[in-house]
Amino acid sequence: MNDCLFCKIIKGDIPSDKVYEDEEILAFKDINPAAPIHILVIPKKHISSLIDIEPEDEMLIGKIYSVINKIAEQQGVKEKGYRVIVNCGEDGGQEVMHLHFHLLAGRKLGEKII
Ligand code: 5GP
Ligand code: ZN
Repeated sequence: MNDCLFCKIIKGDIPSDKVYEDEEILAFKDINPAAPIHILVIPKKHISSLIDIEPEDEMLIGKIYSVINKIAEQQGVKEKGYRVIVNCGEDGGQEVMHLHFHLLAGRKLGEKII
């Protein structure tokens, strides 16, 4: 997607602080961190939102969770724990319309909604 911010990050047109990359997935530090560790994990395939996941994406989404666990281990937060958040749509508070998983860690995350 030409006008998608995260597609531009994937292409390297916009710089990012990368922490993981393979042929299908990219992870980079959030520009406005909400915790000491705040990493965005995204599929390289442009999927706009959680609601747009197709059956053919199921393997990819599963792999994203494995990658999240790998990154958590690399970041040294495997034992202490972490939180994964996906905002979907307007009421979900999604601002960038390219599916992304927030990995938050490094402090006690107190603002529990559920
Ligand atoms: P959302 O609100 O859509 O769930 O999350 C979008 C996230 O992208 C926000 O946490 C925001 O700080 C982050 N973000 C927005 N623009 C950029 C950028 O240009 N670079 C990086 N690394 N993060 C960004
Ligand atoms: Zn995109």
